[in-house]
Amino acid sequence: MSAADRSVVVIGGGPGGYEAALGAAQLGAEVTVVERSGLGGAAVLTDCVPSKALIATADFMDRFSAAKHIGVHFDGAHVPGDQGVTAHITDVNARILELARAQSRDIAERLESAGVEVVQGAGRLVGPGRVEVVVGVAGVASGEEPAPHGGDLTDGGGSQELEADVVLIATGARPRVMDTAVPDGERILTWQQIWDLEELPEHLIVIGSGVTGAELAHAYLGLGCAVTLISSRDRVLPGEDADAANVVEEVFRRRGMTVLNRSRAGAVRRDGDSVVVTLEDGREVSGSHALLAVGSIPNTTDLGLEEAGIAVSRSGHIEVDRVSRTNVPGVYAAGDCTGVFPLASVAAMQGRIAVAHALGDAVAPLSLGRVSSNIFTDPEIATVGASQADIDEGRVDARAVMLPLTKNPRAKMQNVSDGFVKLFARSGSHTIVGGVVVGPRASELIFPIALAVANRLNVDQFSSTFTVYPSMSGSLAEAARQLHEIAD
Ligand SMILES: Cc1cc2nc3c(=O)[nH]c(=O)nc-3n(C[C@H](O)[C@H](O)[C@H](O)COP(=O)(O)OP(=O)(O)OC[C@H]3O[C@@H](n4cnc5c(N)ncnc54)[C@H](O)[C@@H]3O)c2cc1C
Repeated sequence: MSAADRSVVVIGGGPGGYEAALGAAQLGAEVTVVERSGLGGAAVLTDCVPSKALIATADFMDRFSAAKHIGVHFDGAHVPGDQGVTAHITDVNARILELARAQSRDIAERLESAGVEVVQGAGRLVGPGRVEVVVGVAGVASGEEPAPHGGDLTDGGGSQELEADVVLIATGARPRVMDTAVPDGERILTWQQIWDLEELPEHLIVIGSGVTGAELAHAYLGLGCAVTLISSRDRVLPGEDADAANVVEEVFRRRGMTVLNRSRAGAVRRDGDSVVVTLEDGREVSGSHALLAVGSIPNTTDLGLEEAGIAVSRSGHIEVDRVSRTNVPGVYAAGDCTGVFPLASVAAMQGRIAVAHALGDAVAPLSLGRVSSNIFTDPEIATVGASQADIDEGRVDARAVMLPLTKNPRAKMQNVSDGFVKLFARSGSHTIVGGVVVGPRASELIFPIALAVANRLNVDQFSSTFTVYPSMSGSLAEAARQLHEIAD
């Protein structure tokens, strides 16, 4: 059977789902996407896109306070901190939500022009190749909990059943909340509820210092809020390169953030117009708002998985192999509901791989060793491939060179005082196996390292490629040059 004779139903219209739908349509299949909230998913409507837009505003504000360091003064004007340049959070949020909605509309147009049918409603498996859809709309962005399947869908119009040769589940994840810290949407918030804030928090307490907690703590600090970041571990960003996380934590503290390490939040309660966070050791921290950033849970209940015999891990994630197959023939899964690597870019790749495999197109299995990721703090932290921990713990036989950006001429001109590049090359072959960049726009600087890792370039091939003078990428080439000497 050719792809053109086959039908695909995708449950979930986030990056895992819509990218798969576009890929399947390109291969000629008949494709339907079932989406209960908005196209683009949490990635576009509440998580990835809005948070990056908020950070862009905070970074813009930061330029005003950095101006004096490069000889720029605002004669007769004020800078942040003087209450002269302030973020109007309702304007900021309105821009962010409109930007997210516009991106969602763009995705709808792309799907429509590719001939993909979109059904608005909640889908669940009801038999081999059969998906039941309860038609309706669940809360889009703006803090409403997604309605459970068959729950409070608005504009409901009954149900319909779809049949497909291939079903892809890409239902994403939602913020984890604690029984002792129930969000009220006003002062105790999940990251999906902050877009409705009508005033800038006076003192925001961020609970959780993983990527989401660190990024949003950075954003609100930059917007002028007092911020306390509560971290249960020894340092912020515990899963990241330790050198990189230390730089970011130091910058946070220098800019006035209170970082409480080894402090686990036990409960959060409202106290009038304040919130009180009780730590497990009994200490209390008061603020005007609390933001819960304590992880995600997959949207995998009420999808008919158990009845269909689909294997799910103890954490509730759908188990998949490297071509996104579940254990049930014809059923694939992609994105955050699989817990493979919670990034929009990985979700999209898993979705594209799934449909290519299902429809018989050429496909390379997912390779997590090549995933570039970035933490959008200031400085940013970008990583790809093997990590320092892989080397230190003996999983990868490689050498590292780390160069501070303070020695880089472009960095000096741009008043960059924090950051470094770190490159890892395999001992003997000198093949580049990974790297870390900490600095402004590290997300852009990581690409040459990602190219080197993906194409197994060695340090000599890397360093003999011209870089612009002066440029930050000059430090990448210099690190490769130094590795030539030591990576034997
Ligand atoms: C604050 C934050 C910032 C982030 N920033 C980045 C970033 O900068 N870069 C990056 O790569 N990643 C980022 N991520 C991660 C990224 O958002 C996720 O990895 C991505 O959303 C996963 O895509 P997905 O398609 O699996 O799920 P989602 O984007 O969550 O989409 C799933 C969709 O499925 C729908 N759905 C669920 N159940 C059903 C059902 N039964 N029927 C129909 N529809 C259903 C949902 O309504 C939703 O629209 C961030 C995450 C957070 C929390």
